[in-house]
Parts: sequence; structure tokens; C-alpha cells
Amino acid sequence: MNPRVFIGLGANLGDAPTTLRAAVDALAAQPDLADVRCSSLYRTPAWGREDQPDFINAVATCTTVMAPAALLARLLEIERGFGRERSLEARWGPRTLDLDLLLYGDRSIASPELTVPHPYLHARAFVLVPLLELAPDAVIPGIGSAAAALARVDRGGIEALR
Ligand code: AMP
Repeated sequence: MNPRVFIGLGANLGDAPTTLRAAVDALAAQPDLADVRCSSLYRTPAWGREDQPDFINAVATCTTVMAPAALLARLLEIERGFGRERSLEARWGPRTLDLDLLLYGDRSIASPELTVPHPYLHARAFVLVPLLELAPDAVIPGIGSAAAALARVDRGGIEALR
């Protein structure tokens, strides 16, 4: 069976909900990703740097035949397609679209370009809440259950959009 992966989506510039929905459509259009589904969209206070607009966040899941590095390269290509220019951005500053590879099956990967599970996954309620909506039993390799991780962090200010 092909591994199931989870991808974090975030945006806080322009019409962020529309961007996120279009990004999920872009994932669904990839021939090497299957069974693409997305959580609700959530409005979340900016993290890291607070002097910027709220973020819209979601998590998508799919299965894939792609190797992790190839999948990350594809995600970065999709980000670029949405007008993201990394060289102009401040760390944790505003962005058109951010795609993170959160989980790749039960793999742990530590290469210069790619860390899986995503290093902040277990610490960020704005990722854990949509992840758990899709996969209540999700396990973060090296950490433990995602539900237990969420219980350890502040989930204040995270609202589902309707
Ligand atoms: P950021 O600007 O925070 O989105 O960082 C993106 C960069 O982090 C990419 O160029 C990747 O090479 C690197 N990176 C390492 N691990 C991951 C991951 N799990 N998901 C996305 N980007 C990653």
C-alpha cells in the first residue's frame, strides 16, 4: 500500500481561504497523489511573529507513489505557482501559501532539505487541530499520539471557518 501523507497548508496574504482551496485543488490534480482530502479551514492567530494578519490553516491528506524528497519538491513547486517568492520573505512573516510535509507514513527523515515529522508539528495547535480532524488516531513518529501532543499545547484562538 502506498504511504499516507499529511500536508500542512497556511496563508495570510490576499484571499487566504480561496488560496487554500485552490492549493487543495492543485494537490488533487497531481497524477501521483491519490485520495486527496482536506480538513476544515481554521483561522488562527499568527505564530512566531505576531505583528501580521491572522493565518488560515488546514491539513490535507493523500496517498502517494512519490518518494519524500520528490514530494517536497512538488510542494515547493506548487507554492511557487501561487506566487510565493521565498527570497523576499521574513522568517515566520506573511506569506501567500506555505505547504509543509507533516507526516509521511510512519517514516522519520532527517536530511538537510527535509525533516519528517515536521519539527514543529507536535508544538503547533493550528496544525494538530486540523490533523486530528482528518485522523483522530494519528501518531507522530518519535513523539507519540497527536491527540496527546495537542493536550500539551495552547489551542486558544483557533476557530473553524464556516
Ligand atoms: P519554510 O519557509 O518555513 O516553509 O521552510 C521551507 C524549507 O524548509 C524548505 O525549503 C525545505 O527544504 C525545508 N523543510 C525541511 N523539512 C520540511 C518539511 N517537513 N516540510 C516542508 N519544508 C521542509
